[in-house]
Amino acid sequence: MLITSKLPNVGTTIFSVMSALANEHKAINLSQGFPNFDCSDKLKTLVEKYIRKGYNQYAPMPGIPALRHRLVEKIEKLYGVTIDPDLEITITAGATQALYCAISAFVKPDDEVILIEPAYDCYRPAIEINGGIPVTYQMEAPNYQVDWKMLERLITWRTRMIVVNTPHNPTGKTFKENDWERLRAIAEDRDILVLCDEAYEHIVFDKEKHRSLIQFPEIFSRGLSVFSLGKTLHATGWKIGAIVAPPKLSKEFRKVHQFCNFSINTPFQYAIADFLEDPEEYLHLNEFFQKKRDFLLSAMNGSRFKPIHSEGTYFQLFDYSEISDEPDTEFAKRMTTEFGVASIPVSVFNSNKKDDKIIRLCFAKTEETLAKAGELLRKV
Ligand code: PMP
Ligand code: GLN
Repeated sequence: MLITSKLPNVGTTIFSVMSALANEHKAINLSQGFPNFDCSDKLKTLVEKYIRKGYNQYAPMPGIPALRHRLVEKIEKLYGVTIDPDLEITITAGATQALYCAISAFVKPDDEVILIEPAYDCYRPAIEINGGIPVTYQMEAPNYQVDWKMLERLITWRTRMIVVNTPHNPTGKTFKENDWERLRAIAEDRDILVLCDEAYEHIVFDKEKHRSLIQFPEIFSRGLSVFSLGKTLHATGWKIGAIVAPPKLSKEFRKVHQFCNFSINTPFQYAIADFLEDPEEYLHLNEFFQKKRDFLLSAMNGSRFKPIHSEGTYFQLFDYSEISDEPDTEFAKRMTTEFGVASIPVSVFNSNKKDDKIIRLCFAKTEETLAKAGELLRKV
């Protein structure tokens, strides 16, 4: 039978490729973004408790009320906005499923969706499989700022959605007041949705504070905010997240969600709802990861890699142009096989494969691992 792929340009993601290469060569894996330390024991005990108590059947479609209420409480505390737990928040299987279902719910064939590149890898295929047309705005290294005037020129009568991501993977940049203001002005008078990936909401450095789309009423009225509890809990393998959107948009989102997942893992939802009762569990992630960023930077001191300032996320970019002019994908593979450290080449986040000789390292690792990686990379 002849299969005509709906995603002819999609292969295996770079995260799977580099993690496999790291394992094969026993390299230190600073490629795929996940912590190499465990989540809290208290959280694990809570999961066990709810499994043993028999909370093992389907959860309600939008998520268990206790977790929706807990996240609404957290949003109120952090962002000063009151969200309706029944109509405006849905628990999802990680940020990925939220993003996929949000795009599927709103993007129709031939709708244009603006993507700001380099961009995290899951937005584009979700647009394409729904028949949408990704329209790319390219940010330039090393500052990776959005020139909103230029971005505005990409908007046509077909533009249905703009996807934004702050703190930004892979660059580590965050939106400033000016970015929000310009985005507001662009979205306000047009029939355009804004999908904001806030997976790293708790990881913003240098005493800056994350600002959420939810805080901008003119954008939120046409916006959807996506969160990843895997990031917040150091448990990326649990794949639990949430999406927050006004009732009209949440209603459409849930139409897709209920046939994509229907509902999310029950005992984990109960456990997380209890665990997040104590804000201390998430309020210090900024300092926790900033220390790791700074530790990696000092471990890399004396190397020929040039850091590009990371304002958030658990990623740090490095320019290697002083070392080699090899394409970044080749360089990242050679770094893994010859020098024992796996990274992610940034060109994979550009649909035109624009290659600025920059790699991404994940610093959600123990100091011991980061020190070892620094030692190896100083020799490159
Ligand atoms: N968005 C961004 C920017 C990410 O880096 C990731 C991966 N961590 C995701 C979404 C997916 O998050 P999740 O694992 O919760 O699906
Ligand atoms: N978000 C993680 C990263 O950017 C990867 C997640 C995945 O493997 N799909 O590295």
